[in-house]
Amino acid sequence: MKTVYFVVPCYNEQEVLNETAKRLNEKMENLIAQGKINEDSRIVFVDDGSRDATYSIMCVLHAENPRLCAVKLSRNQGHQNALLAGLMTVKDKCDAAISLDADLQDDINAIDEMVDRFNEGYDVVYGVRSSRKKDTFFKRTTAQAFYKLMLFFGVEMVYNHADYRLMSSRALEALESFNEVNLFLRGIVPLVGFKSTQVTYERGERFAGESKYPLKKMLHFAVDGITSFSVKPIRMVLALGFVILFISILVLLYSLIRWILGQTVAGWTTIVASIWALGSIQLLALGIVGEYVGKIYKEVKARPRFIIEETLF
Ligand code: UDP
Ligand code: MG
Repeated sequence: MKTVYFVVPCYNEQEVLNETAKRLNEKMENLIAQGKINEDSRIVFVDDGSRDATYSIMCVLHAENPRLCAVKLSRNQGHQNALLAGLMTVKDKCDAAISLDADLQDDINAIDEMVDRFNEGYDVVYGVRSSRKKDTFFKRTTAQAFYKLMLFFGVEMVYNHADYRLMSSRALEALESFNEVNLFLRGIVPLVGFKSTQVTYERGERFAGESKYPLKKMLHFAVDGITSFSVKPIRMVLALGFVILFISILVLLYSLIRWILGQTVAGWTTIVASIWALGSIQLLALGIVGEYVGKIYKEVKARPRFIIEETLF
């Protein structure tokens, strides 16, 4: 039997924490009773620098039930970093960790299936939303636009998967070797590799409290995701440079013809032709510089070049 930890990042979640702890604890006891996971399994709450009573609730919970543990971050670091902090804290203590949000919008009954898949030998099990009926119209459309955009920019991501997933300890070990500071877990986990699968569930509503992801944070998250994974925006500048170069040749021809026909004011031809030519040269130069910046960016991130799954000697 394996030790499985639940990791729950919490930011100002005083309204939901007690109920969440109760439901997760029941779920865990249930799994233990069924013999799917062992007694050493734990639920770890990560307090992401909350300003309300979140951490004091965690302390009370831990005193009442040692299975409920807590990690407190020194300040608010954002969901992704809080999650990573939790996962890295538990990776040597458990055989697998399941990350989930404190508001339990992601149906916890999917955990059973995740654990089953893990026991069958999968290292990464993605929780995938089968529908977003319960999300607000705004959240649903923006989220879907986000996935499409990421796909357009060539970021490999599991569609409709948030950060609800199981990862084995060796997958977590591999995750640790990604040193980047701009962390976008949903993009990195597929890069970690190993045998992976998906389980689907219905996404529910927040049972209390309000979303900690206002539009500003969501936009930030999207920009982070794209710029941490893709040099496509730079390539687009380069492509634009080529397009403008082509147009400038046409403009040059056109203005020359007008000049030959004597239909122009003195100086017009030179000005028009040089505006277009300079514009295209500048964009091309920017694109070229950008290519190098993109390369430097990749080097600086120092991602692992390979991750070994198994060796037989
Ligand atoms: N969260 C966090 N730090 C933050 C913002 C959010 O740890 O700076 C946590 C939050 O407590 C919750 C999870 O991230 O457990 C997802 O947030 P939320 O449910 O508000 O996002 P939504 O479901 O609306 O996208
Ligand atoms: Mg939520």
